[in-house]
Parts: sequence; C-alpha cells; structure tokens
Amino acid sequence: MADVEYLRSKLTAHPDFPKKGIVFLDIFPILRDPIAFETLITHLLHHLTSQTIPNIPSKKIDVVVGLDARGFLLGPILALRLGASFVPVRKQGKLPGTCESATYEKEYGTDSFEMQSDAIKPGQSVIVVDDLIATGGSAKAAGELIAKLGGKTVEYLFIIELMFLKGGSKLDAPVYSIVQSD
Ligand code: IMP
Repeated sequence: MADVEYLRSKLTAHPDFPKKGIVFLDIFPILRDPIAFETLITHLLHHLTSQTIPNIPSKKIDVVVGLDARGFLLGPILALRLGASFVPVRKQGKLPGTCESATYEKEYGTDSFEMQSDAIKPGQSVIVVDDLIATGGSAKAAGELIAKLGGKTVEYLFIIELMFLKGGSKLDAPVYSIVQSD
C-alpha cells in the first residue's frame, strides 16, 4: 500500500543509539510532517474501523491505552477520533491515586508499569498503542494491567514491529503493525 511505503520512507535508523550495537528506529520524522502524521493516524483509524479486528464484543473500542512515552503521542488522537477513553500506562511512581502494577524484563534488570485502578471497567474492549514492539515485554505488562482491571485487550497496535524478536508471541491478543522490520 502506498501509505505504508510512504510512512516507511519517513522512518530514520540511528546506529549505536542509545548504546553500541542497537539500531534505533525513530518515528519523530513522521510527526514532524503534518501530512505524514495525518497519513499515520488515518491508516490506524481505517484499520480499527474496517471490521478486521475479531473479538470486539460490543463492536466498539472503549479504551485506548498508550504506553509511556511515545504511545502518549498516538493514543489520545486515536481515542478522540474513536470516541473512546484514553488511559496512560506509566513508569512506576508517576501516577497519583491507587494503581495496579506489573513488572517486565528490560535488557538489564526489570522495570514496572502502572495504571490507575479505576481507569478501565470490567468487560471494556481495549486496544494498546505504542511506537514500536521489540521483545514485547512492555506490551505484555500493559496487557497484564488491563486484565487485572477486567478489561479485554482486543489488539496491540504499533507503527513498527521488530519481527526477529517475535514479541507478539508473548501477547494475549493479535498485533497490528504498519511497518515490519528484520
Ligand atoms: P519491548 O518492551 O522490548 O517490546 O520494547 C519496546 C519499547 O522500547 C517501546 O516503548 C519502544 O518505544 C522502545 N524501543 C525499543 N527499541 C526502539 C527503537 O528502535 N525505536 C523506538 N523505540 C524503541
């Protein structure tokens, strides 16, 4: 599809960032260009509203969960256009009130994600959005938080999926990615 190739052409690769041996794929050139940003949002909305997602009981997405931090740039726009709630998943210690917590593996050690305990109601249909899935550890932790609150994750959405890491195999719902990278 032309929009996929267009969006792929906007991504930039940064070797040895944030450290040696890692090639960091940067989505910010998309956001810098309003036509590319609009193409991105339209592509995701078209996907979400084109009946290609099975298992949405109400045929409606109730909640868009965005992951700290680049999921915050996409999630609220999708939520507004879908008429859904936006709920952030944040690194530990950043959210006020009672929170649920889930731990995930990082390259060195572990980290924790949190979600406010009243953010999702039992039975709500939820999508998770972030810029990129690598090992899938952070998305899996988000899925655990959603499940703890009784939500049903219907899909995980990313701009980029690093296929060789097979992160999607860890998750409890299908992955949709615009660009697949080896
Ligand atoms: P995972 O938990 O291993 O799937 O890593 C995904 C998280 O790391 C996401 O929050 C991404 O934003 C971030 N991440 C890892 N590699 C990259 C990259 O190359 N570009 C942008 N973000 C990345």
